[in-house]
Amino acid sequence: MGLDFVQCNLNHCRVAQDLVAQFMVEERVNVALISDPYKADPASSAWHVSAGQRKAAIYVANTGVTVANVISDPEFVSARLNGVQVCSCYASPNRPIEDFQDLLCRLEDSIRTVQQGTPVLVTGDLNARSAAWGDWVDNRRGEELGLLIESLGLVIANTGSTPTFTRGAGSIVDVTLSCDSLAASITDWRVLESLFNNSDYHYIRFSLTPGRDLARATSATTAAPRAWNTAGGVANDSFLAGLVLAEWLEQGDPQDWQDAERGATALRLRRRQTLEFNEERADAELAATNSAYREAKKQLKIAILRSKRTCWKELISSVDADPFGKPYKLVMRKLRGRPPTASKEYATLQSVVDTLFPKHRAKTDGPPVPADSVVPFTASEVDAAVERAGSKNKAPGPDGLTGKILRAVHKAHPNILLGLYNSCLRSGTFPAEWKTSRVVLLKKGNKPDGVPSSYRPLCLLNDVGKILEKGKSTDDAVRELQAYLLEGVNGGNFCLAVSIDVRNAFNTIKWSDILDALPRWRVPQYLLNMFRSYFSGRTGTVHANCVEGGTLEIEISGGVPQGSVVGPLLWNATFDAVMRTELPSGAKLLGFADDTMLVTRAKSTQELEAVTNEALSLVEQRITGLGLQIAVEKTEAVLFTYKFKYTQPAIKLCGGDVQLSTEMNYLGMVVDRSMLFKGQVKKAAARAAGIGNQLARIMPNVGGPREDRRRLLSSVVHSVLLYGAPSWAHTLELVPGNVQTLNRAQRKVLLRCICAYRTVSKAATNVIASTPPADLLAMERMAAFDRRLAPAAPTAGNVPRTKTMEAWQERWSTEESGSWIRRLIPDVRPWCARSHGLVTNFHLTQFLSGHGCFGQYLHRFRKLENPRCVDCRAPTDDAEHAFFECDRWWRRRMEPKATINGPFTPETVVGKMMESRSNWTAVERFVKEVLTKREAEERERQHQEQNM
Ligand SMILES: [Zn+2]
Repeated sequence: MGLDFVQCNLNHCRVAQDLVAQFMVEERVNVALISDPYKADPASSAWHVSAGQRKAAIYVANTGVTVANVISDPEFVSARLNGVQVCSCYASPNRPIEDFQDLLCRLEDSIRTVQQGTPVLVTGDLNARSAAWGDWVDNRRGEELGLLIESLGLVIANTGSTPTFTRGAGSIVDVTLSCDSLAASITDWRVLESLFNNSDYHYIRFSLTPGRDLARATSATTAAPRAWNTAGGVANDSFLAGLVLAEWLEQGDPQDWQDAERGATALRLRRRQTLEFNEERADAELAATNSAYREAKKQLKIAILRSKRTCWKELISSVDADPFGKPYKLVMRKLRGRPPTASKEYATLQSVVDTLFPKHRAKTDGPPVPADSVVPFTASEVDAAVERAGSKNKAPGPDGLTGKILRAVHKAHPNILLGLYNSCLRSGTFPAEWKTSRVVLLKKGNKPDGVPSSYRPLCLLNDVGKILEKGKSTDDAVRELQAYLLEGVNGGNFCLAVSIDVRNAFNTIKWSDILDALPRWRVPQYLLNMFRSYFSGRTGTVHANCVEGGTLEIEISGGVPQGSVVGPLLWNATFDAVMRTELPSGAKLLGFADDTMLVTRAKSTQELEAVTNEALSLVEQRITGLGLQIAVEKTEAVLFTYKFKYTQPAIKLCGGDVQLSTEMNYLGMVVDRSMLFKGQVKKAAARAAGIGNQLARIMPNVGGPREDRRRLLSSVVHSVLLYGAPSWAHTLELVPGNVQTLNRAQRKVLLRCICAYRTVSKAATNVIASTPPADLLAMERMAAFDRRLAPAAPTAGNVPRTKTMEAWQERWSTEESGSWIRRLIPDVRPWCARSHGLVTNFHLTQFLSGHGCFGQYLHRFRKLENPRCVDCRAPTDDAEHAFFECDRWWRRRMEPKATINGPFTPETVVGKMMESRSNWTAVERFVKEVLTKREAEERERQHQEQNM
């Protein structure tokens, strides 16, 4: 049975409490999760309240809801409702932060001791504010609660930014949290803004729909990229049968073989028609086809499963190799969510598409100019291109053929593609079939629906065509800008950077301009013919689930095809006319793809103004000459100087004024006037936190083992956090704030990865997760980037990584916190280089960190009166006592002792664990057994305490 919830702070008000009861009757809500109730009826079995002053309550209005395992803490109450442990909390704003931290410790402990496999929901007004749940202010409590969320692996259900507390400017102090497995079942979460309830707080309404997570998990597998196992070559018949099947798979649920059956029936019917003349033969053939088909279906199913597994392994192993590689893209693609073209009206769609793809007077017609000598493709060139296409797991073009399929076909029949491509070259033809692209409109952020500028159009071409078509990184570009500005400012100049935004650049550039530009680059005639053909009669189809249904066919007459190899080359070749604009002295154009930046420098602001305006007007002429438009409203300008007194220069562009600001975006980075990149680091940390939460929400739907998923999460968050590090890592030595921001953001994701208690120190978190501190990683990226630039001969090994490890070890050995774990792991280098043993397990983390179900730890957070061991009455029960000394476990301890065959002490045990896999497993098993037992007994103890 599903559950409907209302969550609210009643402000200790009687009328508000009556109203909530009324609301529940009217709206058929089963459960109210209440902070600061007026009064709970102690005689009623419907009320479950926190101990002491009754600050939080759960009110169950429906007798159909089963209630069990009720736990009352002074500031929260927790109960199992229909199998879900629901925890309602209230933290008064008037208490000191230490009390709040205590509350979080008790809450954490209570949630961790919930029986394994029981889903958890945590709600309440904790007076904690953070951008993570939509508030516009961050406070200390928000930071602390954020750590709890990560360490318990919870997911934030709050969406949007409607204030839940309405006094003053409004704030979001009420949060709804759940474990990741429950996250997908929470539906319809909303703040009931316009409902009167006689409280300063709005109601939050949401439902728990059982089984929904299961449905989501299965539907997610259909969204996973199709992958083929083509290692053993391809049998032609089953391959074709597979294609038919795959067609159906693409459209529906792979578990639902009915669709595939329907497809097969259609195929059989068609066959029957062509074989009419001999019914008997037809039937025999049909039977044969049927059984071949069934066999192929089975094979395909196995192949898909197997290759999914291999792909997952490949994915994980490539995580470290390329931070912005496959895993990053896979995950970011998942985050983008559903195709944004869904359910839009035809007319709206048409107008969006018309604006994004303006029609140009085609200049691509006319007979091809005779070509002199054609340089044909060689077999190895085609091999390499096919190999490249086949190694990528990309969305297929409109023909549904992926690079992997092409690779398999090419292996079986190497001459087909070679012959095909060369005859294309000779005749100067780009086949029409390949020109049709599937246009996907990706919606940008929170932009309004139906407005052209809200969409980024992406054209997917057929891979066959992409192979036929034949750089510098963003880090280089930002460094170039930085160097120019620093040199200028240090020379006592005023510097000005103006970003020039070309509206919808890639799609609006005219093909006639591209074709005009190409001869300047000495492109041979036969290739020009090819491009001429390539550009004529191109179409795109927009798949629209619009009211009228069907797809929208559009003619494309401009733009460079994105996702194709030639796209950026064509853009650069054409836009080069702008980049080569002759500028007055002191002005320079920098650019990367369609991000163009004008930088100027001068001794005085008057001079600067003159130079900048002259340069801008020249650039503007060139850009509009190409039929492109400048989006003045998106143009940003920042003045860089060390001087304090000056008059602001007045900058003009396209007849309008450009306002000077303190920071600007360039290639996805925030460049601020102090060049200290504080804004960039803050933005990266906020983005990393946001993506971490979004990812955690969909994690149960991503396949693969739990530990691998966590590694994927960590990899993606680090990629976001360290974006552009070569440009800003040098500031880490100057700005301690940047180091703190980075490492704090990193700690959150690591806590989630290793399931550590919130109280585990930052340094220990890094060691347990075998991940160097984020600031060292950023420096490492910068060092690796610089080495690439330096002409010196490459030396053996990964020098930047060795340096990182040395720096980390130095920091670790002088660290104040983590004295226990330093006894276990004195040197991080061999620990991180170990060949086996993952720490993603809650018990092993407790063992290593010393934070967990130990008397001393529980005593520290007031759960126990004294730190004594409950088993043997030893005065201090900590990790060392539990695992190495306590008499209760002496017999059980014999087993790991015998396996590692050496002294069993904190100083030696980890070294032994790293020696062999069997040692690792023996210790891990022992640790798990001790802690599982201790946790069960602690649960029992709490339970008895409740019933006293
Ligand atoms: Zn003991």
